[in-house]
Amino acid sequence: MADVVVVGGGVGGMAAAIRLGAAGHHVTLLERNPELGGKLASRTIDGFTFDTGPSLLTLPHVFDELLGHAGTSLAAAADLQRLDPICRYSWPAGAPGGATSFDHRAGRTEAVAEVDAAMPGQGERFDAFLEHARTIWEVAERSFFAGPLESPLSLLRRMQRPGDLLAIDPLRSLSARAGQVFDDPRLVQWAGRYATYSGSSPSLAPATLACIPWIEQAFGAWYLRGGLAVLAGALGKALSELGVDVRTGVDVAAIRSDAIAVKGVRLADGEALDADVVVANVDATHLYADLLPDRAMLRKALRAPLSSSGFALLLGVRDREGARVPAHHEISFSPDGPGEFSQLFRARTVPTDPTVYICNTSATDPSAAPAGSASWFVLVNVPPAGDVDWDAESDRYRDRLLETMAARGFDVAGRTEVCEVVTPLDIAAHTRSWQGSIYGTSSNGRRAAFLRPGNRGPRRGLYLAGGSSHPGGGLPLVAMSGRIVADMVAADGWRP
Ligand SMILES: Cc1cc2nc3c(=O)[nH]c(=O)nc-3n(C[C@H](O)[C@H](O)[C@H](O)COP(=O)(O)OP(=O)(O)OC[C@H]3O[C@@H](n4cnc5c(N)ncnc54)[C@H](O)[C@@H]3O)c2cc1C
Repeated sequence: MADVVVVGGGVGGMAAAIRLGAAGHHVTLLERNPELGGKLASRTIDGFTFDTGPSLLTLPHVFDELLGHAGTSLAAAADLQRLDPICRYSWPAGAPGGATSFDHRAGRTEAVAEVDAAMPGQGERFDAFLEHARTIWEVAERSFFAGPLESPLSLLRRMQRPGDLLAIDPLRSLSARAGQVFDDPRLVQWAGRYATYSGSSPSLAPATLACIPWIEQAFGAWYLRGGLAVLAGALGKALSELGVDVRTGVDVAAIRSDAIAVKGVRLADGEALDADVVVANVDATHLYADLLPDRAMLRKALRAPLSSSGFALLLGVRDREGARVPAHHEISFSPDGPGEFSQLFRARTVPTDPTVYICNTSATDPSAAPAGSASWFVLVNVPPAGDVDWDAESDRYRDRLLETMAARGFDVAGRTEVCEVVTPLDIAAHTRSWQGSIYGTSSNGRRAAFLRPGNRGPRRGLYLAGGSSHPGGGLPLVAMSGRIVADMVAADGWRP
């Protein structure tokens, strides 16, 4: 039986540990925070509960299948709610094309009708965009997401037909694809927003990311009653039931190895644990800068530009008669989409008039806030911490964001019970992600997927599972990285 140590209790680490535990290995999972989940976390302040990381669950069957290894299911472990609308989108006055809004409805026919009502003539194009996206997903699922990405060849080997490579649309950018389909700039901006699901820019990320709206349409946008962090609890319970030794509040200081193979880990208090297999769920940069210092690997891990980070407000808001109430997921777009991304990825500064995401959990879940009030998690994309002096900027940017929200119809002045700020520095401190970047390296550029650290480390027995390695960030993707690593451990001959 191989002794396995998983370093990090994020979703990717837990996914790997569940599979390796279910396969019969002796697994120990070490997490430095007092609780499991990593970025998947929540905070309750004065009766207001906020998901501080993920607020939208997609591809729930990925978690269903994962929890199946522990003899349970997502539906048994959590109170699942499919959201309709998936998201409400609005454009302020001054946006090219003018002010409007539409609800991206859960049903495709209804979604198309809503788009057509808001932007006459665009419904059919919206439908065509989704149809093309379906093909991308079908091919990507059985190729890109099906295994490790050791080289472009490994991807080609998993493709069934020569046309599959072009089917995933990797050569043009997401905004180029959107510009070809839509003649309304607002829908080009809408499509481009999916680049931000990997912390990227629509003009640089490949059109492959167009599969995301289809995923949301086909498999649903989901909420878990009590907040998404309920998922971390469900995965933690599965670990216990499988007999995985979970130790929280344990900081791993080093991965022990010789020149060829891993030997185990050393904890910050000096304790040494032996292992044949180590799965690093930590950010690849923390792995190669600190745990297994390796300059060449660190340089490699940072070959692609970092993904964006986030600046968030946790707002406890008293209801006010006549005030605009955000949908569960609401996006208020910047009037200047290209300018926003240019500030983020070229000037590397905070956007002056940003796209604002509001997650109003209270729209679905009254338990998220005291009666007569609501919990709003407000998020804007910002560059990673190294580019901005957040100690100086944080309060100023909070005030500017509140003004932006007020100008877009979400005025909370005089009715906030809670107003907490989360900066990229907080994200970095909580999860040790490099400069608070949310998704490791970005998808900017045609080669970005190949520049992202692979799932195999530079020593025998060392594997990487998590958002900074293949296939990238986002809850279902990091769960897939856990699956890919567990498959590699088996294929490499580590027997339970
Ligand atoms: C604000 C925000 C919003 C997001 N929104 C969404 C969303 O709506 N939908 C979605 O699907 N995804 C979303 N994501 C992305 C998603 O949360 C992440 O991609 C995913 O949770 C990352 O999982 P991971 O496995 O990479 O581990 P991480 O969450 O990065 O966890 C790594 C763990 O390793 C631990 N660790 C680090 N160093 C050590 C050490 N030396 N010893 C022991 N433990 C260590 C850390 O404490 C941490 O718990 C969001 C993320 C953020 C921050």
